[in-house]
Amino acid sequence: MVGPTLFILLLAIGALIIFGVLASRSSAVGPRPMPPRTCAHCGQPAVLGARFCGQCGQALPPANLT
Ligand SMILES: [Zn+2]
Repeated sequence: MVGPTLFILLLAIGALIIFGVLASRSSAVGPRPMPPRTCAHCGQPAVLGARFCGQCGQALPPANLT
């Protein structure tokens, strides 16, 4: 009689495989998330598209829209 351990192990392996497929698929097809922009002056995260830092008021480098 096989205990529930084997069943749980198979479930875990299946979940790992599914997550691996999803991760590889999303990384290959999905849009690449933009790196978080941070203010070079104060290091606080800058608002996307903002021209000036909302924390210290320093001008942010222009977004690289290529
Ligand atoms: Zn700043």
